[in-house]
Amino acid sequence: MRLNVAHPEVVVDINDLERLHGAIDIGPQGLRLGALVRMAKAADHPVVKRDYPIIAQSLVLAASPQIRNMASLGGNVLQRTRCQYFRDTSWHACNKREPGTGCAALDGMNRKHAVLGISDHCIASYPGDFAQALVALDARVELMSSTGVRVIRFEDLHRLPGDTPHVETVLHPGELIMGFIVPAGPWTRRSLYLKIRDRQSYEFGIATAAVALHIEGGTVREARIGLGGVAAKPWRAHEAETLLQGRPLDEDAANAAARIAFAGAVTHGHNDFKPELGRRTLARALLAAARMEV
Ligand code: SF4
Repeated sequence: MRLNVAHPEVVVDINDLERLHGAIDIGPQGLRLGALVRMAKAADHPVVKRDYPIIAQSLVLAASPQIRNMASLGGNVLQRTRCQYFRDTSWHACNKREPGTGCAALDGMNRKHAVLGISDHCIASYPGDFAQALVALDARVELMSSTGVRVIRFEDLHRLPGDTPHVETVLHPGELIMGFIVPAGPWTRRSLYLKIRDRQSYEFGIATAAVALHIEGGTVREARIGLGGVAAKPWRAHEAETLLQGRPLDEDAANAAARIAFAGAVTHGHNDFKPELGRRTLARALLAAARMEV
C-alpha cells in the first residue's frame, strides 16, 4: 500500500483477535501457534527454542527486533514478493501486479529471482523464512471464514505462479488464517534454519535451507527439507528427503541430496549462480543438523 502497489477499498484491523488467536500451545501432539502470535513471542519461547529450534531460528533471522515485536505469524507467511518490478509501479510489465502485462524480470535484473517452481509468466521468489520451517515440519494451517473452518497442509497454502501469478494462495475471499499446527516428531529437535544473504542482518535470503532430521544409530530414519530464496513458493524437497532415508548422513549423501533438490532448476542469467549456492546451502545445513547434539 505504501508503495502504491495495492489499493484496497477497505482495511480491517484484526488485532483484537489476538485475544482468541494469539496463544502458543505446546503438548505431546505438537505445537499450535495462533496466527496473531507476534514473531518475537514465538522466537523467544523457551520450549519452541529447545524442541523446535528451526522455528525460532527462522523467525529470528527473518526480521529486525522492531518488526518481530509487531508482526504476526499469520501476516508473516503472507508477505508479498520483493521483486523490484512488482514493487515499483513505474514498470508496466508485471503479471503479478497487473495480469496480462508480461514479466519485466525475465529479461531484466533477476539476480534474486527464483529457479524452482517458476513459469514463463513469473519468476518471483517467495521472500519469507518462517514458512520454510513450517513446510519442513509438515505443518497444517487452520483457515476460518463465515462458512466455517478448514484445515489444510501448509505446503498447499501457497500456489505456484503458473499462468496466474497474481493468485498467490488458496485462501478464499474473506478467509483468515487462525493458526498453525506443527505435529510433534522425532526430527523436530534436530532441526535448523540456515539463511544465506548478501549481508548478515536485515536482509532477505538468496538461498535458505530448513532441515529437520531423525537419525538413529548413525542412519537417517526421516529427513525433512524446506528451501527458500530459490523458489516461487515455500519449497519442500521431497526427492532429496527420500534419497537420504536409510543411509548415514555424510558429505556424499548431503551433496547427492542437494543435487537432486536442484535438478529441476531453471535460471535466467543474473541468477545462474543460484542452483550452486542453493546446493551448497542445503548440504551445509544437512551436515550441521547431523552434527547437532540433541
Ligand atoms: Fe512481476 Fe513476477 Fe515478473 Fe516480478 S517476476 S515482474 S513479480 S511477474
